Amino acid sequence: MGLRRWALWGQGPRVAAYCLVSEATAVVLALRPAPIVVDRRTLAVLAALLALGVVQAEAGRRVERNQRRMSKAPHINMTSVWTFAGVLLLPPALLAALVAGLYLHLAVRSWYRLLPAWRTISNAAIILLSCHAAQAVLRETGINDIHSAVAHGRTGTFAVATAVVTFFVVNALLVLPARREPGRTPVALFGTWSDNGLELATLCLGVLNALTLATLPGLVVLVLPQVLLLHRTVLAKQWEVAAHRDEKTGLHNAGGWRHLAERQLKEAKRHHSTFGLLMLDLDHFKQVNDTYGHLAGDAVLRAVAQTITTAVRSREDAVGRFGGEEFVVLLPGINQPETTAIAERIRQAIAILTVPQGQRSITGLSVSIGVARYPRTGTTLQRLLDAADTALYNAKATGRNKVVNAPDPP
Ligand code: GH3
Ligand code: MG
Ligand code: MG
Repeated sequence: MGLRRWALWGQGPRVAAYCLVSEATAVVLALRPAPIVVDRRTLAVLAALLALGVVQAEAGRRVERNQRRMSKAPHINMTSVWTFAGVLLLPPALLAALVAGLYLHLAVRSWYRLLPAWRTISNAAIILLSCHAAQAVLRETGINDIHSAVAHGRTGTFAVATAVVTFFVVNALLVLPARREPGRTPVALFGTWSDNGLELATLCLGVLNALTLATLPGLVVLVLPQVLLLHRTVLAKQWEVAAHRDEKTGLHNAGGWRHLAERQLKEAKRHHSTFGLLMLDLDHFKQVNDTYGHLAGDAVLRAVAQTITTAVRSREDAVGRFGGEEFVVLLPGINQPETTAIAERIRQAIAILTVPQGQRSITGLSVSIGVARYPRTGTTLQRLLDAADTALYNAKATGRNKVVNAPDPP
């Protein structure tokens, strides 16, 4: 591919400049002279780390691809198990060769079609810069590698621990400017607690790896099963999230929403607070399907989900899809008149919604909404849902496109 046609240029000048500068810096730092001598033993360590990294990546290919498909958050891979061992065992130039080799293999075998080349190169550069930072800290403490760390006892322990923290922090900071999408949440930028826990765990395994290679190199294969198992735990977390999501709309599914609602109920009982519950059902939705087709119907469901989500608070409120074209909204800490006002706002937003569908646009949508309030309407989730459902039925029976409050029980 010609230099002018690189996809990197399409990322905007800021991202392109950042990638090029970080890559150039990583390369320059890799070429600096280092106190670690390159002898046959060091080359054997490089070969062992490369081989183990390749074996692990091959064994974890399926996990890796599932993970990439499921998660939009920054992706944490397992390479630090090997690269961090490299930090403690290899001079900068060989460390660069290790990172380049591992990332090239991953790009060719696991990430093609999922990740553009410029991203892989930028990710590799960022990892290499994090490695350089960790090595710089080691040198500052007078420790050159794992051998001298072992020889220095407590000072060595401190130096290695500081290098781990340095790698972790520098890596987290360096990935930030490369993400240009606006309005991303802290979780989208830094990953979840469990993502970061995993990253730390891989670094810890990297230290154990280096220790093994420095003392009983033959036993280094014992690290592999740990790495593979650790890799699988990433999927467990993602499955957990997926199990509570409605795939079509990205909202909470019925189970996930109920779970949140039960928690909110307990919370409200404990703190004597109020909350609102809305049940929504699109009017004459069957006609949308009959007129425009099922796929257009799905697009409408997604647009409605988005409209409801935009109309409520992003952090506190929980929007769920209960089934078909039926949605539920939980409004913690909201009192009675406010709940009705929010329901009315959602109704109006859906009434003016336009869903583009090829050449045509779908308009004229409407929704009926039943409103229940804790504790006025009821004090159990089932009672609140039943009351909202009855109110929704009344809205349908008296003309649709309206908000009906559940009556206070006698
Ligand atoms: P009402 O105003 O009384 O609610 O009329 P309605 O046509 O909306 O009600 P009804 O419950 O009879 O029809 C709901 C329709 O929703 C029937 C079903 O085909 C459609 N539906 C349910 N789930 C989906 C889905 O996931 N995608 C699409 N496109 N349609 C769905
Ligand atoms: Mg309906
Ligand atoms: Mg329905």
